[in-house]
Amino acid sequence: MINVTKTFLPPQEEYSKILQRAWQDGWITNRGKLVQELENKLKGYLKVSYLLATTNGTLPIQMAIKALQLTGEIITTPFSYVATTSSIVWEGCNPVFVDIHPLYLTIDETKIEAAITKKTSAILATHVFGNPCAVEAINSIAKKHGLKVIYDAAHCFGVTYKDKSIFEYGDISTCSFHATKLFHTGEGGALFTKDENLYNKLFYHHNFGHQGKEAFQGLGINAKMSELQAALGLAVLPYIEEIMGQREKIANKYSKLFSNCNIQLLKIREGITWNYSYYPIILKDENQLLIIKKDLEANSIFPRRYFYPSLNTLNYTENSTMPISDSVSKRILCLPMCFNLSIQDVDKISKIICRHL
Ligand SMILES: *Cc1c(COP(=O)(O)O)cnc(C)c1O
Repeated sequence: MINVTKTFLPPQEEYSKILQRAWQDGWITNRGKLVQELENKLKGYLKVSYLLATTNGTLPIQMAIKALQLTGEIITTPFSYVATTSSIVWEGCNPVFVDIHPLYLTIDETKIEAAITKKTSAILATHVFGNPCAVEAINSIAKKHGLKVIYDAAHCFGVTYKDKSIFEYGDISTCSFHATKLFHTGEGGALFTKDENLYNKLFYHHNFGHQGKEAFQGLGINAKMSELQAALGLAVLPYIEEIMGQREKIANKYSKLFSNCNIQLLKIREGITWNYSYYPIILKDENQLLIIKKDLEANSIFPRRYFYPSLNTLNYTENSTMPISDSVSKRILCLPMCFNLSIQDVDKISKIICRHL
């Protein structure tokens, strides 16, 4: 059986060895040594200003909306995982969708200004499959209209733009370290900002607002990463270059095999080092997708319809039509992509797909 992804697991004894330190201290959460060590190592590896480890990748989006005190309307993309939209609604704001670019699949920056009203407080966009949004254009629009910018960068571990971590763009960026993501801690995530004051605010927010044991700085929630999660991250991190290297090989092999097929592949933006986090293909129509998916499944290969459905169709958002996102979400399939997928399997998967084109 070949799934869309397979969690990279380091040798169990390496995890146990790191975990042993938590056992010795009898300390398994509340920002112990392992969380602090993971934060420091990630900061060095990613070259970011401020990083806060969290218990998943969804709470950071909610906390970003809260910390920036956003109200009213937030301009966002319909082509993302549900957490992007649900976080906006969860925080009592209204998502206003702007359609995506047909090739990059990120929010179409040329359509943002038309969606701005007096109630707009921010832009919350997703860097899709590690492919960044047009961050400079979005930054200019935000400056011009006094809006905040949050990036759901759940897919972006290791991605850089113009030699700088993509997490350094926007007021706040968030990442997910879920088991299905490139770098993971089982469940986990992080918040990134360049602003020290904002970091301090987020820090209080993620720990109930505690200021020492007996005082509270303000409102907070519990988004702390545990030592068990951090230990797994510390065990995975030494393999990250190898993981990305393998994925690069797999992605290049897919692309080579598809070069003669009539198939739309993800267009990666210029100036990027990509992380090969996903390998999506965009088919002619939904019918073709369903035929291909069925054939792959008959061969024990399980791709995933991702992102599907388009988020503007969620029953808790105002119905709007987003022609490009509606269409792409029905035609896009993420192919198996993981550390130990063999080149023979890539061959097999591509052959099955190409015979339907
Ligand atoms: C995975 C993902 C999330 C949610 O992250 P969790 O760690 O599962 O909470 C949010 N946004 C996008 C785009 C994702 O892919």
